Amino acid sequence: MSDTTWDCIVVGAGAAGLSAALVLGRARRRTLVIDAGAQSNRVAHGTGGLLGQDGRRPADFYAAGRAELAAYPTVELRSAEVVAGKRGEAGFVLESSDGSREAARLVLLATGMDYRFPALPGIAERFGRSVFHCPFCHGWEVRERRLGVLDRGATGMQRALLLRFWSDDVTLLTDGPAELEAEDRDRLAAAGVQIDERHVAGVDGPVETLTAIAFTDGGTRACGGLLVPVTLHQRSTLAGRLGAVASAAGHVAADALEVDPMLRTTASGLFAAGDVSAKMPSVANAIAAGSTAAAVVVHDLMSEAGDRLVSDPRHPAPA
Ligand SMILES: Cc1cc2nc3c(=O)[nH]c(=O)nc-3n(C[C@H](O)[C@H](O)[C@H](O)COP(=O)(O)OP(=O)(O)OC[C@H]3O[C@@H](n4cnc5c(N)ncnc54)[C@H](O)[C@@H]3O)c2cc1C
Repeated sequence: MSDTTWDCIVVGAGAAGLSAALVLGRARRRTLVIDAGAQSNRVAHGTGGLLGQDGRRPADFYAAGRAELAAYPTVELRSAEVVAGKRGEAGFVLESSDGSREAARLVLLATGMDYRFPALPGIAERFGRSVFHCPFCHGWEVRERRLGVLDRGATGMQRALLLRFWSDDVTLLTDGPAELEAEDRDRLAAAGVQIDERHVAGVDGPVETLTAIAFTDGGTRACGGLLVPVTLHQRSTLAGRLGAVASAAGHVAADALEVDPMLRTTASGLFAAGDVSAKMPSVANAIAAGSTAAAVVVHDLMSEAGDRLVSDPRHPAPA
């Protein structure tokens, strides 16, 4: 184990982790960022709805965030996966896939979530492009196309009505008999939404483009964009092993971490920001959460540090 005890280890360098590291670096806190490099929107062509960066390629956005951190000598970025962790004498000890063990007073989890979508042929390779989970992220790119909403559950009607803001041609695909009341059907009909109750076999089209929905009866329906339901899950058991507790399942996340408004988890000294603890996952919200959590981390370090308030220039972050 290195002889450094970091003020904070940030696990994950997506929007939340990079935002937190920037605030921590500017506050001159000795910060280690450990990142496995699998931000959830990397597959998308662009990030939709992010002020100042609208439509920017995710990989470029993350590279720019990393580059900004280079100005702050107390921040170190490391490419690895944190594979184990426990409470140590001064806070936490984390072990990474590169074999390193690092100690930190405080830990901020910014590990994102695993987005799980329906396991139908053709969806995985188009997810984040012509098949999408969030109209606010991707609706603009498929506007005015023939759109579909795949949803077997009660949320289908709401999502189909929502998607009408982006297209006049929306079909609710219920993948079997629709669980809709007569008044729901009337409401959808009044909004011009069609209902197709055939069982869905998969989606078709060249490469990442979507041209049609295929049904198990052999039929097809032309479609240029498909909204699918997702459920977000923890990517690993790390948070639980460090003592964090998950909230009850929400409308998007199955097991987002329970945090207070300051992004503190239920485990002392452990913070969680971004999708990992989000009710409304988005890049903008992850940036905001990372920034808030980092400011609270700095305040907590101040309470704990007493006479060690100022960074000691003789002990910069290790190379
Ligand atoms: C396909 C798709 C498209 C999207 N498009 C948009 C959009 O257009 N606009 C928008 O606002 N939102 C969009 N979102 C949502 C948005 O991507 C997320 O809300 C946002 O990326 C969350 O940021 P985060 O930092 O919390 O997590 P992430 O971006 O997922 O970053 C987490 C990082 O932590 C790392 N990590 C995880 N576990 C460990 C570990 N144990 N050790 C080390 N590192 C670890 C991961 O590898 C990853 O690099 C999209 C999501 C998806 C899935």
